[in-house]
Amino acid sequence: MDPKRDPAEMDRRDPLARFRDLFDLPEGLIYLGGHSLGPPPRTMRARAERLIDREWGTDLVAAWNRSDWLELPERIGARIAPLVGAGADEVIAADSVSLNLFKLLGALVVKAPGRGVVLADEGNFPTDLYMAQGLAHLLEGSGTTLRLTAPEDFESTLGSEVAVATVSHVDFRTGRRRDLRALTAAARACGVPLVWDLSHSAGAVAMRLNADGVEYAVGCGYKYLNGGPGAPGFLYVAREFQDSLESPLTGWMGHASPFDFDTRYRPAPGMRRFLTGTPPILSLAAFEDGLRTFEGVKMAELRGKSEALGDLFHRLAAERLAEFGVIPASPADAGERGAQVSLRHPEGDALVQALNARGVVGDFRGPDLMRFGLAPLYVRYMDVWNAVEALRLILVNEEHREDRFRRRRRVP
Ligand SMILES: *Cc1c(COP(=O)(O)O)cnc(C)c1O
Repeated sequence: MDPKRDPAEMDRRDPLARFRDLFDLPEGLIYLGGHSLGPPPRTMRARAERLIDREWGTDLVAAWNRSDWLELPERIGARIAPLVGAGADEVIAADSVSLNLFKLLGALVVKAPGRGVVLADEGNFPTDLYMAQGLAHLLEGSGTTLRLTAPEDFESTLGSEVAVATVSHVDFRTGRRRDLRALTAAARACGVPLVWDLSHSAGAVAMRLNADGVEYAVGCGYKYLNGGPGAPGFLYVAREFQDSLESPLTGWMGHASPFDFDTRYRPAPGMRRFLTGTPPILSLAAFEDGLRTFEGVKMAELRGKSEALGDLFHRLAAERLAEFGVIPASPADAGERGAQVSLRHPEGDALVQALNARGVVGDFRGPDLMRFGLAPLYVRYMDVWNAVEALRLILVNEEHREDRFRRRRRVP
């Protein structure tokens, strides 16, 4: 076999192969669920012990100062920054993606009083749409409305009536990736601030927010950034805009001097103004360890591997699964794809359950999408080969019939 197409050989040549060992993954499991929840880093156990025994358990309330707990949101932001091509002072960890999106949309919509439309791509993850809907509802009295567009119409709907717009970098269903630079420029040409959601790209796809002129973004901590279940999200605001934005959620941690206990709100300079309440230290500590797994990773290698994993998956699916009616839903061209491969099949739900039962973790989104996250830090080329082979065997045997009616719960 051509060594460039042989998965075992590709693993041997993989410059990121050693990173897999940083994670606590069950033996024998093929984990293609990193687009939903990253696995725990091995350092997490010792970190939790240190935090509970030494910091919290010994220093108690004094640990806020002694252990610099209040700096964690910025420290984590500084670790995310190089992964997204931003300055260390342009990213901060806080709250959830939902809340962070609300904060940015809210801060931006009031800056464009002559424009009444909040624009969102309806292909976006539903919570993004719900938050935009809630904001528009709150501002109904001042004539603000929400407009949803089909993904392909998003760009042409940008216009002079749009106050703020939001879109996902990578579509959570199809894995299709938008062009950060081109779309940001198109929005800017219409005077529309654009808030990107990087939930399905940060940590899996190389990006250059600064170089591509991106002004505003939010992203998720628990997917490809390995921050742990329910990890806080993050916000990015290009430096030049930070001090002119006022978060609509004015909590004390975003105050210029929270410990003055002033009766009037004054926003902190820079990104701290996007904090709201007391930061969740246990979650942030886990998030910090999740981000440590990226230490020493070259972004070009990360992107190169996620492209190669996706290309391999697409090629094997075309060669081995097409005859069973499995159709790729993600773009075949790596330049248009995130780190996720999506396949369509009318029995997708049952197929994913059958795969899970055989130690291959992927997930299902209705009506017919099977999703496989190809996180470059721990997914091997052989995992892709074995996952496709497992799916082929299930289809050959039609074993999935017995699983067809089983129900299961869905997670983000
Ligand atoms: C996962 C995901 C979220 C999650 O939002 P939370 O508020 O952190 O639960 C939001 N948006 C997108 C696009 C996502 O993929």
